[in-house]
Amino acid sequence: MHIRFSEEDERFRKELAAWLADALSGEFAVLRGRGGVGDEGHLIPERKAWEKKLAAGGWTCVGWPEEHGGRGLSLSQQVIFHEEYARAGAPGRLSQMSENLFGPTCIAFGSEAQKARYLPPIVAGEEFWCQGYSEPDAGSDLANIKTRARLEAGEWIIDGQKVWTSWAAWADWCFVVARVEPESKRHKGLAYLLVPMAQPGVEIRPIQQITGDAEFFEVFYDEARTPAENILGEPGEGWKVAMGTLAYERGISTIGQQMLFKNELAEIIRIAQANGKARDPLIRQRIADAWMGLEIQRTNALRTLSSKASLEPAGMITKLYWATWHRNLGELAMDVLGAEAEIAEPTEAADYQLTPLQRMFLFVRSETLYGGSNQIQRNQIAERALGLPREPRPA
Ligand SMILES: Cc1cc2nc3c(=O)[nH]c(=O)nc-3n(C[C@H](O)[C@H](O)[C@H](O)COP(=O)(O)OP(=O)(O)OC[C@H]3O[C@@H](n4cnc5c(N)ncnc54)[C@H](O)[C@@H]3O)c2cc1C
Repeated sequence: MHIRFSEEDERFRKELAAWLADALSGEFAVLRGRGGVGDEGHLIPERKAWEKKLAAGGWTCVGWPEEHGGRGLSLSQQVIFHEEYARAGAPGRLSQMSENLFGPTCIAFGSEAQKARYLPPIVAGEEFWCQGYSEPDAGSDLANIKTRARLEAGEWIIDGQKVWTSWAAWADWCFVVARVEPESKRHKGLAYLLVPMAQPGVEIRPIQQITGDAEFFEVFYDEARTPAENILGEPGEGWKVAMGTLAYERGISTIGQQMLFKNELAEIIRIAQANGKARDPLIRQRIADAWMGLEIQRTNALRTLSSKASLEPAGMITKLYWATWHRNLGELAMDVLGAEAEIAEPTEAADYQLTPLQRMFLFVRSETLYGGSNQIQRNQIAERALGLPREPRPA
C-alpha cells in the first residue's frame, strides 16, 4: 500500500515544518536532538515545558479524535507529523506513554468521568504517565504478576515491586497491573489501577544502564494508595485492559522512529565517506543492506497502519524486524568508526560523554528485549502467524 500525500497534505507539511523551526529556536534550541535513545533522562524540566509549547500549538495527541481533545489528523497527516518532527531534530517526547499508550487505553476502556479527568491534562502536556507491568518474575511471562491490591475504605492499597519502569521518576501517574483476587492465577483476577506516583507508599529507585544513564527504575509499592474509582475496566479484568494497551504500542509513532533511524544512517554514511571506510566493500554492502532494511520497515509500517492489520502476519514482524535491524545498525556504526568508537570525550560536567552513535550502540541491545523480546516475538509469529504447535505453557 502506498500513502499518497495530497496538495493539502503538503501544505500541512510546510505549516508544521515552519512551526517546528520557529519553536526550536530561542529558549528551546537547546532541545534539538536531545532526549533520544540513551538520553531519555536529560533536560526533563525543559522537555516538560516543550510539551506545553507543543500543546499550545495544537501539536499534542495529533491522532486522537477531536471529541477527546486530539487534532484528529488523517493517517497521511499523522505520518507527516512524525516525519517532520524527527526531521526537525525535535526532542524525544516525554508524553510518549501518556499519548500513545495510556490515552488510547483510557479512550477505549475508561468511563466518561475518567476520560474527562485524565485526557485533558495529557492533551495540555501537563500530566505524564509510566507503565507498571514488569516485575522481577513477570517480564516475558507477564501473567505471573505478584503485586497485590486490596480495596479498603474506598481505596486500593497496593503492595509489591515493579521493575524496569521507564521514566517513573518524572511521571505523575503509573498504570499498574496488580492482582486483586488473592487466590487467582495467571491472567485472571488482575486489575488495571491508576496510581499517583507522588505519595509515601511509592519508592522509586533508578537502575543504571550500560549507557551510564537511568531511564528505567525499580518501583516499590508499600501500602501505596489510590481511590477506588481509579481503575480502568472491572476488577478481575485487568489483563484485557493491559493487553489493549500493548496493542497500541506498535502504532504510527514507528514512522517517526524510522526517520530517526534514517538520520542515524545518514550520519554513519557521512563518517564512512569522511574516514575512507566507504571504500571497504564489506562496509559498503552493510550500508546498502541497512538502507534496504529501512525501506522495508517504512513499506511494512504503511501497509499495516493503513490496513489496521496489526495482529496479522505483516504487523507481527514489525517489532522483531526493527529491533534486530537497529541492533545491527549499532554494530555497523561502531565498525565504521573503527578505533574512534572506543573513545569518549571528557567534558566539564562529567568524566566522559558518549556520542549519540555510541549511546545508540549501547542502548539498542535493550530494544530486542522491551515491548516483547526477540525470542517471544518469534514464538508469537510461529504460533499465531505460521500455525506451528504452541510451546508448552507453565502449569
Ligand atoms: C529499556 C527497557 C525499558 C523497559 N520499560 C518498561 C516499562 O516502562 N514498563 C514495564 O512494565 N516494563 C518495561 N520493560 C521491561 C520489559 O518489558 C521486559 O524486559 C521484557 O518483557 C522481558 O522481560 P524480562 O526482562 O523479565 O526478561 P525474561 O522474561 O526473564 O527473559 C529473559 C530472556 O529469556 C528469554 N525468554 C523468556 N521466556 C521465553 C520463552 N518462553 N521462549 C524463549 N525465550 C524466552 C527472553 O527472550 C530473554 O532473552 C523495559 C525493558 C527495557 C529493557
